[in-house]
Amino acid sequence: MPAAPEILIGNATLPDGSRADIRVRGKRIAEIGKNLQPGPGCEQLDASGLLAYPGLVNTHHHLFQSVLKAVPEGIDQPLGPWLAHVPYRAWGQVTPELMYCAARVGLSELLRSGCTTCADHHYLYHADTSPELEEAIFQAARELGIRLVLCRGGGSREGSHQGLAVTDLVPESIEQRLQRMQDSAARHHDPAADAMTRVVVAPTSVIHASTRQELLLLAEFAREHGLRRHSHLLEVGFDDEVAREKHGMSAIDYMDDVGWLGEDVWFAHLVHVDDSGLSKLIATHTGIAHCPTSNARLGSGVARVPEMHAGGQPVSLGVDGSASAESGSMVSEMLLAWLVHRAVGGPAATQVEQVQHWASRGGAQILGFAELGALEAGMLADIVLYDLAAPRFAGVWEPQWAPVVCGEPITAREVMINGEWRVRGGEILGVDQAELFRQTQRQLAILVDACR
Ligand SMILES: [Zn+2]
Repeated sequence: MPAAPEILIGNATLPDGSRADIRVRGKRIAEIGKNLQPGPGCEQLDASGLLAYPGLVNTHHHLFQSVLKAVPEGIDQPLGPWLAHVPYRAWGQVTPELMYCAARVGLSELLRSGCTTCADHHYLYHADTSPELEEAIFQAARELGIRLVLCRGGGSREGSHQGLAVTDLVPESIEQRLQRMQDSAARHHDPAADAMTRVVVAPTSVIHASTRQELLLLAEFAREHGLRRHSHLLEVGFDDEVAREKHGMSAIDYMDDVGWLGEDVWFAHLVHVDDSGLSKLIATHTGIAHCPTSNARLGSGVARVPEMHAGGQPVSLGVDGSASAESGSMVSEMLLAWLVHRAVGGPAATQVEQVQHWASRGGAQILGFAELGALEAGMLADIVLYDLAAPRFAGVWEPQWAPVVCGEPITAREVMINGEWRVRGGEILGVDQAELFRQTQRQLAILVDACR
């Protein structure tokens, strides 16, 4: 058998500020050390002046929203009316062609920021959904070579979901949802450590668009098929109000009651968590996809992430959909995560290394990738090399902190995923960005016409 191809990345600055060579063999980091010698036929890259980070992991996105940025009707709205005015208004108009374009735009934005794994919470399902819509996301991810975790959304018409209420689309029955989810998992869920695609059971809202019975069935389905679980929770206080009214207990207690807390579950937002809820999340090791940009944009508040982290709750970062967080960059998300807790909790509320961990290893662990998210021998070779030679980085004392404390614009000059180059010299391989922009604007014009 021929030896796996070898790539030697020389003299890179590492996240701890030291310099070293990184040897990649096949899909993994084989060795990190000083003065590593190239083997026969080895490809070499001089990374002097480049900063190496583990590929960033985004644990909450809605890629279809990449064509719903700055929609005027939702620009000053809180979550409920924003859902009705923006994503749900467009729901029935998203064609497979538009979805494909939106996924390419969103995934390109992520790659440019150094993100190599994306969990996409896709929820545009209804009774007559074309399977091509979901396939368009997998296709876009496959072409760009980015790791994709499809969080399979969906919901029933429960009445308290302010987005679903404005559509006249017929929701899927739970039987239809389970059958379709089973089909998707059979096609795309790969439990292997180095998987490029996985599927997660992810009802759009566990409080407003799911019945107790549905949550029990979905949990059972996830256990049977070895899938993790995800949803939105407590982005706003309305979730708690409805849980108390419908179930006579807080939203977190209700999740506990239906078996929706645990190491295989993570929720986006968790902004409005009280002391008792916080203790339960920590005790059960339920993860959070912290989305500070979206929470700021919609005026939802600031999640108690430093307390969660201190208690040992798994923390990760999510850029959320671009309809409520127009940047779509994991570097922007790291910067705001670092800043926002300091604004409310003082200058020691967050540390650079902690935020960097949330954005990489923390996210990988929450998504169930045990061998991803760190620059160490034996780990999967998801590596980003940032170019810090731009004039704006002049004067930085500790270059390894720059992506977190300086934010965008930054150039992910080289990005490797599973040992393969996906970005070279700042260019995403296989994507003509100018053509993608033109295609997207054409698709956008059709969407705007259809929505107005
Ligand atoms: Zn979301």
